[in-house]
Amino acid sequence: MVVRHNKPQLVITAKIGNVPVRGICSACPNIVFDTGSKVGKRKEHERKLNDLFSQHLKEKHARENDGQAA
Ligand SMILES: [Zn+2]
Repeated sequence: MVVRHNKPQLVITAKIGNVPVRGICSACPNIVFDTGSKVGKRKEHERKLNDLFSQHLKEKHARENDGQAA
């Protein structure tokens, strides 16, 4: 049985001020992306979260477009 679900998205779960420091994959709530507690520029954290998320997408969700859920 294939359960249809939305395309995985990066969901920000924690911010320091307006800087996103932690996020999850909407399809894998147990996966946490963390930029660490070192607060830098907001853009750097956003880029790092996006990098971690795209890496996760490639590793875990790359085949979903083929209709083959892992
Ligand atoms: Zn995921």
